Amino acid sequence: MWKRSTPEAHPPDVEHDCQPVPLPTCWTTPHLPSLEDLIAHARTLAALGFGLTPTCFPTGPGRCVHHGECGRSAGKRPLRLGFVSAAAQLQTPDATEVLLRSCWPCNLALVVGAGFVVIEADSPAADQELIAPCGGVAPITPTRLGRPGRGRGFIFTCPPGSLTRATHRGKSGAIDVLPGGSIFVVPPSIHATGHRYCWAPGCAPWDAAPLPVPDGLLRLVQSRLGQRVDNQHPHPSVAADPHVAQLAARVRPVVTSEVARLIRCDLLVARLWRAEGKRHGDVSRSGLDFSLAQRLFRLRVPLLDIACALAYRPSSHANDPTYTARTALRASGASR
Ligand SMILES: [Zn+2]
Repeated sequence: MWKRSTPEAHPPDVEHDCQPVPLPTCWTTPHLPSLEDLIAHARTLAALGFGLTPTCFPTGPGRCVHHGECGRSAGKRPLRLGFVSAAAQLQTPDATEVLLRSCWPCNLALVVGAGFVVIEADSPAADQELIAPCGGVAPITPTRLGRPGRGRGFIFTCPPGSLTRATHRGKSGAIDVLPGGSIFVVPPSIHATGHRYCWAPGCAPWDAAPLPVPDGLLRLVQSRLGQRVDNQHPHPSVAADPHVAQLAARVRPVVTSEVARLIRCDLLVARLWRAEGKRHGDVSRSGLDFSLAQRLFRLRVPLLDIACALAYRPSSHANDPTYTARTALRASGASR
């Protein structure tokens, strides 16, 4: 997934002879990435073996070029269905460039590969908690700096399957774990607040190879200390349901071709998928997830495909496999 030396592995200050593409006029920040910036970064990351996907381009809090009202995921929603399997295939720098040109303006995200994990701090306190097991010194591993009020995101290697997706870990309750198959927006992308992401000095992926996740940090994120269990599993007794556990174990964040076809062809599925909740009288995201699962079930989509689709949908209430499995089962009437 990652190889150290490559002719393309240099910071992207490269001139390209492509035509400039007009940017959305709603932006006022002077730090917008150019298409050339984006392509140069992407080519470098692709040459290093990282799987990439274009995501939507934010135009302000909750809004983006591609979806209009995009909610909390503005700037982070993948623009290609099946992005996990696409990223798993070998993406050449040339193929990556063609993809980005076709999606511009867009952000750039790394699809976390199997055997990798991103551990992210959602607050300054979480940032300090995260490096404490490393002796209070940030490890020399690819690191994305945090936007104001947040912390850093570190890319590590880990044994495949050793970590699952988790949020609100640690005493700070603000450490997130993004295992293989997750999306991690990378520089030179823009956050919906207008912040332009950047790499920590000396810790861009072309400066440092990912380190194995330090033991102390692994224990910290594996422990349930401080985790908001009530938020993730509003019905703990249901989370213990063996049917839910069985289905959850098979959930991967993917969209099958049948679900992708329904998003294109079925108006209600498309609207629910895009979280156009107000038109359905239910504005809560968990309500939307349930409505989408119910609609897919009525269209005879298999339960596993429904749960996987919910785990993939970035504007879902939670992409946690237990939550998506339970929602799919409840929508089918098999669980309450
Ligand atoms: Zn969007």
